[in-house]
Amino acid sequence: MYSDVNKCIGVDESTLCDAWDREHLWHPYTSTINPLPTYKVSRADGCVITLADGTRLIDGMSSWWCIIHGYNNPRLNAALKNQIDAVSHVMFGGLTHEPAIALGKKLLGMAPDNMHNIFYADSGSVAVEVAMKMAVQYAVSASGSHKKTNFVTIRRGYHGDTWNAMSVCDPVTGMHGAFGTALPVRYFVPSPQSRFDGEWDAADIEPLEKVLAEHHDEIAALILEPIVQGAGGMWFYHPEYLRAARRLCDKFGILLIFDEIATGFWRTGRLFAWEHASVKPDIMCVGKGLTGGYMTMSAVLTTKHVADTISGGEAGVMMHGPTFMANPLACAVALASLEELERHDMSARLKAMETAMARLLEPARTFANVADVRVLGSIGVVEMKNNVDVGAFQKECVRRGIWIRPFGRNVYIMPPYVITDSELERLTAGMLDIVRMLP
Ligand code: PLP
Repeated sequence: MYSDVNKCIGVDESTLCDAWDREHLWHPYTSTINPLPTYKVSRADGCVITLADGTRLIDGMSSWWCIIHGYNNPRLNAALKNQIDAVSHVMFGGLTHEPAIALGKKLLGMAPDNMHNIFYADSGSVAVEVAMKMAVQYAVSASGSHKKTNFVTIRRGYHGDTWNAMSVCDPVTGMHGAFGTALPVRYFVPSPQSRFDGEWDAADIEPLEKVLAEHHDEIAALILEPIVQGAGGMWFYHPEYLRAARRLCDKFGILLIFDEIATGFWRTGRLFAWEHASVKPDIMCVGKGLTGGYMTMSAVLTTKHVADTISGGEAGVMMHGPTFMANPLACAVALASLEELERHDMSARLKAMETAMARLLEPARTFANVADVRVLGSIGVVEMKNNVDVGAFQKECVRRGIWIRPFGRNVYIMPPYVITDSELERLTAGMLDIVRMLP
């Protein structure tokens, strides 16, 4: 199989997954019997990933959307190097440290002004678990009963791969099929149909109103990705949906959780996606770009009311405490990443990226195999009429010196913010070149 791939893409053997890797390392969403081609990276700088044979790829993925400042950023590197000589890790139970405090202050200054308490977690999925635990603990503490413990969410969502996170992912594109009745059963309402850039149709909110009216006494929270539904469908919906959802949550005594793990830190053209609607959540999850993509870390932010209600309840504490909570290296590099965002006019940068991406992807609208083209902030999506073969698509990418990983019918790019104009032109030209050939 691999010799075929080599022939097809014309790259050196060492570029492809070596035999040991293929035999022993289980890559994400990959079969051990018939694995997708895996390319070996030797280094990465700025917006360029260099493969073992010297092939240079312009990165359209920001390594699953987290490398916001590009690879090998000197300021982020320095933050880690400085921190490692002071303290690499120390338990957060009973101890604290300056990187955690400085990061917390910076993060709260950027978050909606109702946010007051921060819980550091290990990854995006774990942040979602923590947020859901918080909501349940809040509901139990506030109501004094264990009845209000379920969740409602919108279809086409993606919230991660751990158990509870999976349970609120889209039941079709998510993993409900694979895990069946092992997953807790949640309430799902249709994803809003009103486009971000289109007219608001008030009918979009009716299914949520109906579910909340009938089941609010069983539901602790509504969890959703604000404005952009990422890995569940790359869909951008109307801000009015969030305003209407906030009103319903208040009316029925339900917490509102915003999963800003993919949308945070300017990805949608605003610092956080809630700003498109001026709607503040009760609980908010951030991750991915938090550390500039350097280390795994996330944070769950909430209001004083939620935090104090949990603390005044039956358990009296937030029941979560991972080993690597608030790891000082991760906090130090996250602080450097947030400072890096403040050093630049990110609003102008993202506007420029959005304008350029919209112009460069526009020609795809005329392709017969393309269903839709949409761009928001630094997210550019070409939705195909048919599913895309990831392995075959990526071979063509490597041949053209670009890196994109489509899923389902979506071919999309989310490049690092440091991408240059000429890199973006090459990335989108290569992308459309491949898209044009797809069935
Ligand atoms: N939530 C959203 C919106 C995401 O896009 C993702 C990852 O893509 C996650 C949660 C899970 O994050 P992680 O992969 O860090 O566990």
